[in-house]
Amino acid sequence: MILMEAYILDLDGVIFRGSEVIAGAPDAVNRLLDSARVVFLTNNSTQSRGAVAARLNASGIRCTEGDVITAGYAAAVYIRKRYGAQKIYPIGEAGLIHELKAEGHEIDPGRDEGRDDGGDGGRCGDEDAVADFVVVGLDRDFTYEKLRIGLCNILAGSGLIATNTDPVLPVEHGFLPGAGAIVRALETASGRSAFVIGKPNPPMMDAVIDHLGLPAHECTLVGDRLDTDILAGSRYGMKTVLVLTGVETPESVSQSRIKPDAVIGSIAEMQEI
Ligand SMILES: [Mg+2]
Repeated sequence: MILMEAYILDLDGVIFRGSEVIAGAPDAVNRLLDSARVVFLTNNSTQSRGAVAARLNASGIRCTEGDVITAGYAAAVYIRKRYGAQKIYPIGEAGLIHELKAEGHEIDPGRDEGRDDGGDGGRCGDEDAVADFVVVGLDRDFTYEKLRIGLCNILAGSGLIATNTDPVLPVEHGFLPGAGAIVRALETASGRSAFVIGKPNPPMMDAVIDHLGLPAHECTLVGDRLDTDILAGSRYGMKTVLVLTGVETPESVSQSRIKPDAVIGSIAEMQEI
């Protein structure tokens, strides 16, 4: 095993599968931590960095909040650095809202008007331009009303930012619709394209490179998706390792043009890389 300076580890499909911890993952991560730096990089915005770190700790993995970069956190930081504190209508869960507030952004709860107006769904005009940005992540309480308010804001001039566009989320016994499905709903309704923060896009990758302060070629990225994790690592000149405990299968790997440096069954096999 050639030791790298740092390992960038995806979470869903690599360490977790839904609420379950993938067998052998904690020991494998702690072995890496004995000799290298480890950062956890997830497109999932549903949990705050602190909540992710607590979940990793509960699984026996040594880490702190500062070792975790979520797409929700990366979105909040990106907006603050580029535009300052902004008013944001979030379509997402508690983790996204927490990170937006932590970076000083104001959360717009959305307009109530239109809900009891007899069914026309409310107006979409300039008077609804209450948010600077609509920020969209995975929201398991997504509703038509949230779609309506998001659309009103976008049509009135709000920017559309997506934490990520993963089509599905791997869970214990299959897949849930991912943030990408919700982003597409807003894109379809508005005719606009979202600016995307998460892997494989530059805002998320720049955030992790800045965080580590290391050249990309000294980093190994471990992930379960070819079109996000492996593509991102390859573009940045990192070593890439695909695990088969998430989205991909041997068939999808053989059919893809995106080629990881190594394919392993599970992160538990990392010592053999
Ligand atoms: Mg994943």
